[in-house]
Amino acid sequence: MDGNVVDVAIVGGGPFGLMLANELGRREISVVLLDEKPSTASNPQANATQARTMEHFRRLGFAEEVRAQGLPDDFPTDVAYFTRFAKHELARFRLPSAREARQKVSSLSGSWSAAELPHRVSQKFVEQVLRKRAEALPGVSIDYGWKVTDFVESGDGVSVEARQANGTERRTLRCKYLVGADGARSFVRRRLGIQYIGEAGVLRDFFGGRMLATYLRSPEFYEVVPFAPAWMNVAFNSERRAFLAAVDGRGEFAFHAQLRDGETEESITDEQALGMFRLTVGYPLRAEILSRGTWTAGYSLVAARFSQGRVFLGGDAAHLFTPTGGLGYNTAVDDAVNLGWKLAATVKDVASAAILDSYEDERRPIAIRNVNFAKKFADSIGLFTPQPGLEDDSAKGETLRMEAGLYLEAHGRAEFNIPGITFGGRYDGSPIILGESQQPGTDSPDVYTPTAAPGGRAPHLWIDAATSLYDLFGFEWTLLRLGENAPKGEAFASAAARSGMELKVVDSSLSHLKELYEASLVLIRPDQIVAWRGATEAQAQFVVDTVLGRRIQRK
Ligand SMILES: Cc1cc2nc3c(=O)[nH]c(=O)nc-3n(C[C@H](O)[C@H](O)[C@H](O)COP(=O)(O)OP(=O)(O)OC[C@H]3O[C@@H](n4cnc5c(N)ncnc54)[C@H](O)[C@@H]3O)c2cc1C
Repeated sequence: MDGNVVDVAIVGGGPFGLMLANELGRREISVVLLDEKPSTASNPQANATQARTMEHFRRLGFAEEVRAQGLPDDFPTDVAYFTRFAKHELARFRLPSAREARQKVSSLSGSWSAAELPHRVSQKFVEQVLRKRAEALPGVSIDYGWKVTDFVESGDGVSVEARQANGTERRTLRCKYLVGADGARSFVRRRLGIQYIGEAGVLRDFFGGRMLATYLRSPEFYEVVPFAPAWMNVAFNSERRAFLAAVDGRGEFAFHAQLRDGETEESITDEQALGMFRLTVGYPLRAEILSRGTWTAGYSLVAARFSQGRVFLGGDAAHLFTPTGGLGYNTAVDDAVNLGWKLAATVKDVASAAILDSYEDERRPIAIRNVNFAKKFADSIGLFTPQPGLEDDSAKGETLRMEAGLYLEAHGRAEFNIPGITFGGRYDGSPIILGESQQPGTDSPDVYTPTAAPGGRAPHLWIDAATSLYDLFGFEWTLLRLGENAPKGEAFASAAARSGMELKVVDSSLSHLKELYEASLVLIRPDQIVAWRGATEAQAQFVVDTVLGRRIQRK
């Protein structure tokens, strides 16, 4: 195989690009991923892997590997609010350690009926796993150190120009499809002339404006702080708002401090950056900087389009969040899952190329939804300001701290208990979903109501203490036959075979599964979204043609 002629070229090796390489590689699609950095992220970046993302990692076979990364197994993943980390604890939202999450998940129901619970881990660790897994797939080449400088779409493909980031070598790739996974400043998006739409530059007391990110080591933190360890530590005082995420539970932290007017990264020395850390701890402890940078909070942006011709955008290239709620990388992963199976099915000629338009139809509304949820969380924490006297050693100070604690506890619960956001995203109205007439329920961030109405995540159930219903699904399509009298599924099997669609038929006579799905036949997509449900097979060919995009034209 000529390594410069591939099915799909991906520009960018962050979470979106790496996840997409996994989805495609697992389907034997040839992929080259180019990233200008020397390797995966060296800074911690995102801190929260949502439960839906963990379910996707489980589907791909590496959820446990990811759950073993980052914090020690028994480290509490609490979110805690302090005036300063060693001074007054104001509020704490308790969350399970990795070990507890593993033990608890099969006993939960309702909103948290899931194959996996969230995991609190720095993005840099997740990227390492995604990279290793992608590199192990035949046909996938992960090439760090290459910057994409141009691309041109012509006829049946795209040619892509790249040059070595630290060298003079150049290369030209030819691919059937190109994907811009190149982050917030996406060259691919700008080259296509696609604009971000939405809000930028929103200023808030916290989570609005320039932020100084300092990746640092300070094992002494755990000696001088008299409170239980937490994964996320938030400082609430009028001198410096900041948050501190535990990276390894042993002394490495990602420290993010809100900068004030006139403060720029260049004007802040390392000693001043460490001073900010000591100030928010409230103790002159030892610490060393591992790296630092700045970023801007206050974006709520979604690209006007997610594709043009044979070129697609996903992840931060398609939407930019303020990181409250931890939704940017998780939305990126879901983009990759959605685009991955569709691109693969198109390359293999199983689906019509028109299915590719459904990527934008399905994912853009979700991006707008999630960006808006994140903005509400940013307003909730960022516009709530410390009152004068909050830190005073007096009765008034105590009252103010109690009042702040009540607010922050409620805020923490709202921002970090979000099964509705992660499980409840729906693709109603998609041309490849055979929807039903009833209206979807309220889209609430903290409540997820399992429903098998086509367009949403397949409701989850534990078959036994270790086996999730999802473990029984096929890697591609699944037909659930539920109940003793379910039709045999032969018409679906034939229609799928005629189309080249890989279909696994799963039989179950579990009565509560049939009650959950309210149907005897359910067709589930490779991304575990319900595509159709019904009582008979009479329309099997029509259903298969619809879900493979064969009944629509490419826009
Ligand atoms: C402080 C902070 C905390 C966050 N916390 C969370 C969180 O808890 N949960 C969450 O979900 N999200 C969080 N996020 C957001 C998350 O980090 C991003 O949403 C995520 O990294 C997006 O992934 P991506 O793959 O789309 O883009 P990126 O991770 O930005 O990757 C893009 C890649 O493209 C490469 N690239 C760019 N241009 C080119 C080119 N021309 N040629 C080759 N390569 C190129 C870059 O080198 C880069 O590696 C946080 C962000 C910040 C700043």
